[in-house]
Amino acid sequence: MERTHKAHCLVLTYPTQGHINPMLQFAKFLHHKGLKVTLVTTHFLLNTLQLHAGSSSCNVALETISDGYDEGGYAAAESADAYLNRFWEIGPLTLTKLLERMSSSEYPVDCIVYDAFMPWSLDVAKKFGIFGAVFFTQSCAVGNIYYHAHKGLMKLPVSGDDGEILIPGLQLPLEAVDFPSSLCDLGSNHAVYDMVVGQFSNVDEADWVLCNTFYELEPEVVDWMSKLWPLKTIGPTIPSMYLDNRLKEDKGYGVNLFKQNHDACMKWLNEQPKDSVVYVSFGSGSELGAEQMEELAWGLRISRSNFLWVVRESEAGKIPEGFVEEISEKGLVVSWCPQLEVLAHEAVGCFITHCGWNSTLEALSLGVPLLAMPQWTDQGTNAKYIMDVWKTGLRALPDENGIVKKDVVELCISELMEGEIGKESRRNAMKWKEVARSAMAEGGSSAKNIDEFIAKVVEYVQP
Ligand code: UDP
Repeated sequence: MERTHKAHCLVLTYPTQGHINPMLQFAKFLHHKGLKVTLVTTHFLLNTLQLHAGSSSCNVALETISDGYDEGGYAAAESADAYLNRFWEIGPLTLTKLLERMSSSEYPVDCIVYDAFMPWSLDVAKKFGIFGAVFFTQSCAVGNIYYHAHKGLMKLPVSGDDGEILIPGLQLPLEAVDFPSSLCDLGSNHAVYDMVVGQFSNVDEADWVLCNTFYELEPEVVDWMSKLWPLKTIGPTIPSMYLDNRLKEDKGYGVNLFKQNHDACMKWLNEQPKDSVVYVSFGSGSELGAEQMEELAWGLRISRSNFLWVVRESEAGKIPEGFVEEISEKGLVVSWCPQLEVLAHEAVGCFITHCGWNSTLEALSLGVPLLAMPQWTDQGTNAKYIMDVWKTGLRALPDENGIVKKDVVELCISELMEGEIGKESRRNAMKWKEVARSAMAEGGSSAKNIDEFIAKVVEYVQP
């Protein structure tokens, strides 16, 4: 049968918002370049997704595998260990079934781009003789740290008594607070530790290594890691409208696990003066303690700036009583928003963030200064880079109990919105915005890498 496409690529993502967004965006790029693309996620997640028009995701076909929790997903598992153990058992079996079914279909699969969280995908791909490319959804700096942990090349757990530690390949030494949390507290969550460090378990066998970052952002570590594997930076994977508009009508990622308050947010922002609003969000999974939530709330209230605060429904019970009514003149609290549209809005002056990698990349790509309040996983490392390498913001200092107090929130906001640090952060953020745009534009560092990757896949399919 004659092919109507250059190759068929499965893009297999771990089922969370922060993993689907960049991988779906990459899938859209591959489709734009003439590949047939199928996005694969879990049954449960597909049933939960809110798919939106106004994105080019409709060009990407959808298929599912099972994580063993088809009815309730992660929330139905008794622990992270239980979830991952079952997923790691059922996932490869159902991926095998999917590939068997597709191999006798009109479009057999030629390549799997799989989430680095799920290294077993490569073993399945190899059984079918399929090209396997691993996709890292975190920064290369974070990947490099996990690699050193995996190889036993660093002392674990990292502790506050260790002072500064220099990991080969990183731009600067790190202290314990700057390391991914799984490496500091080995006892609390084995499954998560195994998953993040296990990303490197079979990377040597992958045909290609893709990272959602751009070369100019972390050149030292990319150069260092590229000596080990055919590693290519392909980011920032954000919708084309915010970069060079190459993908027409690509205004949003196109999937949401939560229901957006789109119109309310945009209407409110449209009424605010330029650079006057603090946008606050802790992403799709972080949970603040009740005390932290309260301090943040009062910090926002006493600050001179207006604010837009995303508090997911599951977190809403921690907002102090009467707060929402009390601040209705200066703030809006919503359960989920169109984050890219918000960050791109001229009213937004800074972003209080948990430093999830997507939020970090989005803010860098849209020129927004940051107040970093990292919670766990890779966020501390991202916060360190934001403050000391990219210099696009501040890190809010917690007290001895790990709580960022309201006065600190208020002081940091005024520094960023009105002070010299804010001006410098904004200048640097605007510089990164241009660099991000050029990286993804025709001939840019990431765009060239994507072309090279596609050429490699096509060569593999048609030797
Ligand atoms: N996001 C969104 N609306 C919100 C909050 C977040 O669309 O109200 C998106 C955000 O643009 C980003 C993703 O959700 O792409 C969150 O990913 P990130 O890596 O920042 O954090 P995670 O959720 O993985 O902790």
